[in-house]
Amino acid sequence: MRDGHIHSPYCPHGSSDALKTYIEEAIRAGYHSMTFTEHAPLPQSFIDPVPSQDSGMAYNQVKHYLEDLEQLKEMYKNDIHILKGMEVDYIQGYEEETKQLLNRFGPLLDDSILSVHFLKGKKGWYCIDFSPEMYKDAFQDLGGLEQLYQTYYRTLEMSVVSDLGLYKPKRIGHMTLVRKFRHLYPSPYNWHSYGSQFLDTVKAYNYELDYNGAGMKKPHCQETYPPLPLARQASSMGIPLIYGSDAHQSSALMQGIDAVDQKILKR
Ligand SMILES: [Zn+2]
Ligand SMILES: [Zn+2]
Repeated sequence: MRDGHIHSPYCPHGSSDALKTYIEEAIRAGYHSMTFTEHAPLPQSFIDPVPSQDSGMAYNQVKHYLEDLEQLKEMYKNDIHILKGMEVDYIQGYEEETKQLLNRFGPLLDDSILSVHFLKGKKGWYCIDFSPEMYKDAFQDLGGLEQLYQTYYRTLEMSVVSDLGLYKPKRIGHMTLVRKFRHLYPSPYNWHSYGSQFLDTVKAYNYELDYNGAGMKKPHCQETYPPLPLARQASSMGIPLIYGSDAHQSSALMQGIDAVDQKILKR
């Protein structure tokens, strides 16, 4: 069992479960490999649209986070393979600052994820997975759900294509996050074609996908990111899929795994 997307006590919006608690739980669950991917600090000039402004780790914490992981990696090396990573945001227009962050910390990272959580509307920025209210504000600003999906997939494309330097992550996080509130706000009828087109880009750039179980636990989503048909399509194209629990507490390791097609996972 490999889990390539795990948060930690360094997450300002997560739980305070200790790194050791995650690791012990992972060993109990039979993991052979786990990547901690704490939210990287957001670019300093970017204003987090989330009211509590806690979407990313504090910049001065990164050093401690990586030191703790290095220590635990050594301590547990006979039981489990621990990888050091971050979930880095792709924010359109902030590529230069993101590249600087990656140049600074990239040499210390083993395995990371690039994700899109923030989209720009006419009136400002939105964190699309923060709340149904912010999601609604986003699509109303953009002109509707269809436009929201278009913007999300255009931004995902840019995340793959953009130059973020030598240490740019090669795995794209939760590629259908825009569906998190789909039971409240149904996807446009043709949304699948956006996802499908995006797979062509992932394939062309030899990237990997985070096959993320967290959506299964979200009451308005109840499917994996991406859902089964897209995951199978990706697999048939030869795109590596890496399971991600996206756990923000130790008890959430393995979440959504029953809905994941385990035969197509890259271990
Ligand atoms: Zn988080
Ligand atoms: Zn994420």
